Amino acid sequence: YQAKRDRTGVEVYESKRDSNTPDRLGLLGDLRRALDAQEVHLHYQPKVRFDGQVAGLEALVRWVHPERGKVPPDEFIAIAESSGLMPHLTEYVLETALGQVARWREQGLFVPVAVNVSPRDVHTPGFAGSVAARLARHGVPAGALQLEITEHVLLEDPQRAADTLNQLTAHGVKMSLDDFGTGYSSLVHLRRLPVSELKIDRSFVARLAVDTEDAEIVRCTVDLAHSLGLLVVAEGVEDDETWERLRDLRCDAVQGWLVAAAMPPDETTAWLRARGSRGWQRPRAALPAAA
Ligand code: C2E
Ligand code: MG
Ligand code: MG
Ligand code: MG
Repeated sequence: YQAKRDRTGVEVYESKRDSNTPDRLGLLGDLRRALDAQEVHLHYQPKVRFDGQVAGLEALVRWVHPERGKVPPDEFIAIAESSGLMPHLTEYVLETALGQVARWREQGLFVPVAVNVSPRDVHTPGFAGSVAARLARHGVPAGALQLEITEHVLLEDPQRAADTLNQLTAHGVKMSLDDFGTGYSSLVHLRRLPVSELKIDRSFVARLAVDTEDAEIVRCTVDLAHSLGLLVVAEGVEDDETWERLRDLRCDAVQGWLVAAAMPPDETTAWLRARGSRGWQRPRAALPAAA
């Protein structure tokens, strides 16, 4: 494998793209062991509204391989997805996130958490029931959990996917449509999926302040979502100007390095406490994007 260093100086693993190299199989075995050994961790990234109130947190999985260093989620999630390990990874993430939500609630921090789920999960028989059982076991109300899905859930057996998502919604779990705009025929999906939130993909947000076409795409997406009664979150907001444009376009909330990168649990607790009821305050001068 090839390794390069990321901004923090930690080695980042980069695999070749073929799907069944010995390397990839090695990594799969390592991931399986890492899950059993609880070496996979969750970081949390806030979603904040324009008044500074924290709308929720998104759980993002992190794996630091003992020899290879940080393995990017996109990399090992693809491996988990194609190998059948995905349901196991998702159970682990849900279990960890719900345990954390329960601890935060005990400490008086009532913050909803979003967990990313893959199409594979949504198509696993009994998924909705297992999520409900897990919520009950942790004593966490369904309203404190959000699941982020992508349009890819509809690629295979859209009816079954819609059934599962409807069951989850009936339990009170909120659904969010992630990476919006990167899938196919998105409008159809918006009508078919029981989602309450739409997240505009970072690829449209990044150049919003300088690219008029991207700005138009974002404007139309926000208007469309609102006309369907959905909340809109913009991902990947890195600077002040983008924040202002999004506020002017009536986007509901933002997520991005301008506010905070994904943080380990203890840091997240401190971040939540420091904001308290005051909410997140936008710094007056543009910050250099945090690493
Ligand atoms: P996503 O769900 O769309 O998550 C957003 C990604 O953008 C995260 O990358 C986050 O760290 C990154 N990000 C957030 N703010 C900024 C910003 O201001 N600028 C830039 N350049 N990037 C920003 P991450 O953590 O590497 O995750 C990548 C993807 O991996 C996620 O995309 C999600 O699809 C997937 N993923 C992460 N955790 C899980 C998980 O627990 N389960 C599943 N199934 N997928 C996950
Ligand atoms: Mg997400
Ligand atoms: Mg996303
Ligand atoms: Mg994304």
